[in-house]
Amino acid sequence: MTDTLETFTGAFTQQEPIPEEGIAAALAVLRHGRLHRYNTVGDEISEAAALEEEFAEIVGARFCVAVASGGYALACALRAVGVQAGDKVLTNAFTLAPVPGAIASLGATPVFVGVTEDLVIDLDDLARQVSAPDVRVLMLSHMRGHLCDMGQLTAICDAADVTVIEDCAHTMGAVWEGVPSGRHGRIGCYSMQTYKHVNSGEGGLLVTDDEEVAARAILLSGSYMLYERHRAAPAPEVFERVKYDTPNVSGRMDNLRAAILRPQLRGLETQVARWNARYGVVEAGLRDTPGLRLIPRDPRGRSVGSSIQFLLLDWPAEKVTEVLSRCAARGVELKWFGGAEPVGFTSRYDSWRYAASQPMPATDRVLRGLLDMRLPLTFSESDCAQIARIIRSVVSTVYEMD
Ligand SMILES: *Cc1c(COP(=O)(O)O)cnc(C)c1O
Repeated sequence: MTDTLETFTGAFTQQEPIPEEGIAAALAVLRHGRLHRYNTVGDEISEAAALEEEFAEIVGARFCVAVASGGYALACALRAVGVQAGDKVLTNAFTLAPVPGAIASLGATPVFVGVTEDLVIDLDDLARQVSAPDVRVLMLSHMRGHLCDMGQLTAICDAADVTVIEDCAHTMGAVWEGVPSGRHGRIGCYSMQTYKHVNSGEGGLLVTDDEEVAARAILLSGSYMLYERHRAAPAPEVFERVKYDTPNVSGRMDNLRAAILRPQLRGLETQVARWNARYGVVEAGLRDTPGLRLIPRDPRGRSVGSSIQFLLLDWPAEKVTEVLSRCAARGVELKWFGGAEPVGFTSRYDSWRYAASQPMPATDRVLRGLLDMRLPLTFSESDCAQIARIIRSVVSTVYEMD
């Protein structure tokens, strides 16, 4: 074969530029100088308030609060539903560090629920753990965009009177059975950090239909008594009920980042289609590779293919390492969730030693075989085809080795 040594030269961490419309809006904010969201003139609507209103409309939520980061939105959500120090909060064993970190930031304790081979939360394990007497909240992470059966999850949590907070860092723009991700639980949280689906460097959004939760989240985010300048917010009397009991934990969104984000949200649907086209090319190129298991996509959902995962299930660690190094040598950056030590963004439930965990053999088996790759929109579909050819050739070769 002539193409066995082809090498990919793209950058896996390079996002697209901010759209010109966003740059122009950012310059306008810089020129008028009112970057703080409550620094408005007359009846001016701040960029941050407009962003909230527009995002609420996109996902069909009554209320929306923009905040400093996705991790901030998660912790704010926990506070807004009344989680206290010492409480136990269920969450995914397979997620990113800011999720258990948000729980720990309140002095609460993360309790981990396993992951299946389809990379979704293990609903049988959830059903077992949800009825523990001191469990009131599940922080559900749609890690890498894989959506579980949300109807079943909701039924399990409703029956146990457990509140669901959704971590939609990887599912902004995704849909389950016609409902936008983040709209099944009491609260949905999103991230606008550079590697997510819209990019303001840092940023978070929180949506809910619960007026008291919304009022608390706005006060928590640092609104002082200026909450009437919000638009996707409940009526002033709701704030009256909670304003003396809700601490200010500053973590506001500013007008500069909101200005950059608004045009990106208008283009979100287009970006989702472009991501899914790239994902489809890689997926097709990897199909039926010996020893490699693709993650099925449930047709009831629409994910956003901003990254792709596959399993080398039950492979010895040396062979997985061999795949990683051969792919890296040919320009393809894969991340592994099975390494002995956390590297970069890949840490595991047993790396978070501030939260005690029980051994989870089924989850460990999945994580030991789990490889992960970003798909930035700066890659063309032919880049994606080349990446798939490289992975396929490396995995097939290493699979055959003794
Ligand atoms: C990025 C991310 C977050 C938090 O986002 P930040 O904006 O970086 O705080 C939460 N959950 C998951 C799964 C993430 O990948």
